Amino acid sequence: MTPIRKFEDSRSNGASVAEVRKRYLDFFAKRGHAVIPSAPIVPENDPTTLFTSSGMQPLIPYLLGEPHPKGSRLVDSQMAVRTGDIEEAGDNRHLTFFEMLGNWSLGDYFKQEQLPWVFEFLTSKEEGLGFDPAKLYVTVFDGDVDTGMDLDTEAVEIWKKNFAAKGIPAELVRIGSEEAGYEKGMQGGRIFSYGAKKNWWSRSGVPANMPAGEPGGPDSEIFYDFGTPHDPKWGKECHPNCDCGRFVEIANSVFMQFIKQADGSFKELPKRNVDFGGGLERLTSTTLGTSDLYVTDVFAGARGVLEAHSGKSYADSDETIRSFRIILDHIRAASFIIASGVRPGNSEQGYILRRLIRRAIREIDRLGIKEAILPEVASGYADEYAEQYPFVGKAKEKIADELAKEEAQFRKTLAQGQRELEKMGDNVDAFMLFTTYGFPIELTAEITKERGLSIDQDAVQKQMQEHQALSRAGAAQKFAGGLADHAEQTVRYHTAHHLLLKALQTVLGPDVHQRGSNITSERLRIDFSYGTKMTPEQKAEVEKIVNEKIAEAIPVIRTDMKKEEAEKLGAEHEFGATYPDTVSVYSVGPLDNAFSIEFCGGPHVANTSELSEGGKHFKIMKEEASSAGIRRIKAVLQ
Ligand SMILES: [Zn+2]
Ligand SMILES: [Zn+2]
Repeated sequence: MTPIRKFEDSRSNGASVAEVRKRYLDFFAKRGHAVIPSAPIVPENDPTTLFTSSGMQPLIPYLLGEPHPKGSRLVDSQMAVRTGDIEEAGDNRHLTFFEMLGNWSLGDYFKQEQLPWVFEFLTSKEEGLGFDPAKLYVTVFDGDVDTGMDLDTEAVEIWKKNFAAKGIPAELVRIGSEEAGYEKGMQGGRIFSYGAKKNWWSRSGVPANMPAGEPGGPDSEIFYDFGTPHDPKWGKECHPNCDCGRFVEIANSVFMQFIKQADGSFKELPKRNVDFGGGLERLTSTTLGTSDLYVTDVFAGARGVLEAHSGKSYADSDETIRSFRIILDHIRAASFIIASGVRPGNSEQGYILRRLIRRAIREIDRLGIKEAILPEVASGYADEYAEQYPFVGKAKEKIADELAKEEAQFRKTLAQGQRELEKMGDNVDAFMLFTTYGFPIELTAEITKERGLSIDQDAVQKQMQEHQALSRAGAAQKFAGGLADHAEQTVRYHTAHHLLLKALQTVLGPDVHQRGSNITSERLRIDFSYGTKMTPEQKAEVEKIVNEKIAEAIPVIRTDMKKEEAEKLGAEHEFGATYPDTVSVYSVGPLDNAFSIEFCGGPHVANTSELSEGGKHFKIMKEEASSAGIRRIKAVLQ
């Protein structure tokens, strides 16, 4: 937990993330806003989106008119995950997980209140962040020729008045459209008006693209001037929206003011809304006088762990900074995602989580760290956020556990896949690396790119789709005991069945063989040769082995071969089955290093990790006698 520090002048001392959050919530609470908790990062009852990615997302029904139980003035700090930015992480401003400060007027106050409040929050030393107003620049909506909309003069006037009150003359520069090239530059201005691409908000974008009946409106952004020299590679003149890094956007007020009419014109909405967004980490780093988000206090603990283990400091080199940032970003995001109940997997949230962890591990390698340190990195975050987000603090052990498991498993995959990749030289087969070694395709792409090669992503995608269709269709060969169907869950139970048989042999001895089986989408059943009742310890051990193999995310591979060859490999026969000369065998893991090999026609999942989809674990429900010398187990994934 970080104590709330007092500060007199944030420009010299800087603030903590917790302090900025608290100051913001308090500021708006004092102005009649109900403080609402952050919505979960994994949206409830919304299959269309993996993560909450903005402050607005959970409030959309209320912005569209549904009454909010807490009233018409709300303030929050919303956790958000943006997965589109995973590849961008590594620079000073992209975060996969972040918090968005938001205040909301649901048909309550509007521009006249909102803009002065935000200005006051940013500049007040007593109640806000104490920024020097001379460092602030604002943008407003310039109008839109396509739809005949005018300059937002109301916002211009409010800004003029507010800057004047701080003794700062505030001239308007109508900087206009991107097409014109922003050649006007600063011209001593303080207020800059841009076209619809920059200063208009609607779900469909610029006014011309909006369908009739859609709400939208102008916005007004505030930029902080870090005073760095302009880089002409971004354009002739510098201006607030220039990408050279001198100006950083720290606040945005969106005014949902209009509704588009059937004739293409715009009418004022009867109930106008305000939606404010300000990146919490960005505001905090600005109090520290830097646009580097990773120097804020929330990263300090995790950064210390990386520095201690690598012997490098954050600023050693451009490469070190990049690696540090990726690890810091990804493991914080992973911690929140795990604490939200997601486990690493091969689809949806679990896949994003797996990618984050695996990308972080590669950067840890780049830093030359040999030991498994992810849990230690994550523990800094669990402590840091324990007060604001108790669900993260409470999940400390679970986070450490999942990270450690994923790391151990990925290191194996990585070492093996990388060896194979080296052998391939210039002819890298990304598909084979994935199907045989579970080596992630995007990693192959990254590694080959570093070497100046490229892989044909479209071709690999196509191979992947065909592969999935094949491994599901399967079943060219009879499966004794039978699968009830080929539903996804039944297929998972089939693979679990293979894992279970091998685990039973591991725990009870090599004389255990299958004597019958029945698999449905609800559970699996296996009859096997064994003389006595299993002890609770034996059952627990079997469960543990199966769950470990699921967690190891081992590829399940079908190979067609001569019957003799399969027998030489020690492939497990199915009881009572007769086999043709050429058989198919399924191995869990590559044939030369498989956990289990069985004569089998499939179908199976492509990777054991699919068995844990939805956070499921393997569990033995019942162990009983079936007939003399034969035991029966019923087991589930739940
Ligand atoms: Zn510039
Ligand atoms: Zn089988």
